[in-house]
Amino acid sequence: MGILIVLVAVVITIATSGGHDTAQSSAQSETPAPSTTKGSTTGKTVQETAAQVPAGPQISGEAAKKARIPILMYHVISTPPAGQPMSELWVPKARFRSQAEALKKAGYEAITMEQAMNAWQKGASIPEKPIVLTFDDGYLTQSTNAGPILEKLGWKGVLYLTTRNIGPTIPAASVKKLIRLGWELGSHTITHPDLTKLGAADLRKELEDSRLQLQAQFGQPVDAFCYPTGANNETVRAATKAAGYTSATTVVGGIADGAQDPFALPRVRVTPDDTPKLLLKKIEAFKAGAVPADAPGGYTLPSTQTAPQTSQVTG
Ligand SMILES: [Zn+2]
Repeated sequence: MGILIVLVAVVITIATSGGHDTAQSSAQSETPAPSTTKGSTTGKTVQETAAQVPAGPQISGEAAKKARIPILMYHVISTPPAGQPMSELWVPKARFRSQAEALKKAGYEAITMEQAMNAWQKGASIPEKPIVLTFDDGYLTQSTNAGPILEKLGWKGVLYLTTRNIGPTIPAASVKKLIRLGWELGSHTITHPDLTKLGAADLRKELEDSRLQLQAQFGQPVDAFCYPTGANNETVRAATKAAGYTSATTVVGGIADGAQDPFALPRVRVTPDDTPKLLLKKIEAFKAGAVPADAPGGYTLPSTQTAPQTSQVTG
């Protein structure tokens, strides 16, 4: 059933994207692999993963292993109501669209964390200019607003879902919709706690049980993890690895690469003040190893492992 739905979605995507990008559309129609790959939950091969990558210049082997990949961090994709606390975590829909379109125009192609890990660890094929768009916590607007905008670009995101948010802030059906669009499902714990403050049993529960629940409820592999508010330490990182995850992201500002600890990957925070031009500039500044001086929103330097400004919006 899941495979059928994905097949239908792929057909619709191809049908509706006709004429927009001829090379990409024809490549997609020659490559039915994404539907079959999405149906399996284990044992994906390098070849299968590569087949999901959109057409365009690709890199593989040593070049893929050395790829520096910006991992963008988003939360709510909507205009915040007046007086909304943590409104810097809200990116209005139109702004999000202009950011994504500018990234595409600049040559970026969105991939998942799974693709990034396969590139770094196995040299699997990825686009020449890869980028990952991650969405924390689980909000309805990630499905209603971000989903269709990325779909139009032939892109997919990574949803780091806090399981207690399924229902209260994002319906399960919306999560399923994103999965059908090819999004990767990652865990962001059960209750969004500061993992560095938990005892061993609670830490394990937040890491393992959230992963098991997501796998059971959505029939997807769940190998990517994101630390709530970015808080992590050696104990937390070791427990995350022991729980079966293959990667974990933080709120430390920077560009991720394969030489880094895969359980302490930096990201680029995107704020509502990021015009497309500023966002591209921020990414370039991080690539050059600098924290963008003129970037609003605030950043933590790599030496700091926590960032007070990135707690959840509601939970
Ligand atoms: Zn969060």
